[in-house]
Amino acid sequence: MNKENRINYSFAEMKGIYERPETLNNFARERMERVKRLLKDREKYSCPSSCKLCCYGSILMSYTEFTYIMVNMQENWNMNDLQRIFEQKVGLLQDDRRALLCPFLDEKASQKHCLIYHARPLICRVFGTTAAACNEPIEPSFLDEEAFYFAYNLLYYSGEQFIALNLDEKIALYEAPFALWCLADDSSESRAYLIRLLEIEGDSLQGVLYDRPNNSFFVLEDGFKKGFSEP
Ligand code: SF4
Ligand code: SF4
Repeated sequence: MNKENRINYSFAEMKGIYERPETLNNFARERMERVKRLLKDREKYSCPSSCKLCCYGSILMSYTEFTYIMVNMQENWNMNDLQRIFEQKVGLLQDDRRALLCPFLDEKASQKHCLIYHARPLICRVFGTTAAACNEPIEPSFLDEEAFYFAYNLLYYSGEQFIALNLDEKIALYEAPFALWCLADDSSESRAYLIRLLEIEGDSLQGVLYDRPNNSFFVLEDGFKKGFSEP
């Protein structure tokens, strides 16, 4: 990472993230459309339209959600806007450098501040509900745990198997902010960069990693590995 609070990688030059197999794109489409249908009548928010505080948290997503966002942008955005996001926003860190800033947050907008609202990940859909209550004085809408975990499993699992992307023979990425998925997905070069970044910084920027030989999940914080059982 460099002084301007950004992961020092040329995200704008990435090619591999645009060239996923169509089977993978279709899987992400199918799963995310099911999640949208499941939550459709439950997405009732009482948030002020100008509020975007929860967008400043660490926005973690599965590989399925990352893929869906990419598909959606490739289908609906023009190339200039897409390039601009990767040049200017992907990889920016929040002020405390402990988390990545969501690249799709339009900080200047007084409302409609999400650039990918219809493709936003699950966590953003449940902000403002009982599944992810915030500190603002709102009445969170009710979201039953069962529905939330059903949606989660649709995105993080394929059958009985959780979805993770191998970085090398030892580590896989299970859940991460958008920029880390770009690095994990683009090329062997970007994956090698991500592994070096994890080693040097000793911080997985809240991304959840999978230790393949030891069959366990962990995050890296200040050089320490914090493990936990299957999320
Ligand atoms: S994807 Fe949209 S809703 Fe989610 S954090 Fe980013 S700007 Fe906010
Ligand atoms: S969930 Fe809370 S922080 Fe997020 S937009 Fe609603 S009121 Fe604001």
